[in-house]
Amino acid sequence: MYRAARSLESSDSKPAKLAAELILDGGVQKMPGHGGRVWRTVSSKGSTGYLTTTGQCNCRQGLNRMPFLCHHRVAVIVMVEA
Ligand SMILES: [Zn+2]
Repeated sequence: MYRAARSLESSDSKPAKLAAELILDGGVQKMPGHGGRVWRTVSSKGSTGYLTTTGQCNCRQGLNRMPFLCHHRVAVIVMVEA
C-alpha cells in the first residue's frame, strides 16, 4: 500500500498526489460495518471527513459532478487494491 502511495506521489496528476498525501498521513480509515466498503477520508484542511467508497464520495466535488473521480476515491481505490 505504501509503495502504491509512493508511486502516486511522484505522478504528475494532482488528484493522484493528493490521494497519496491522504494515505501517507493516515487520512483514510475503514469505517466499521457497511461490509467494509465505506471509508472515512479527511478533507484537505483536516477539519471535515467524508464518506467514500470506490464508486462514490460525499465531498463537494463528488456530489456536484458524479462520477467525478475526486482524490478521496483515488485514495480508497488504492487502499482497496493494495
Ligand atoms: Zn471526494
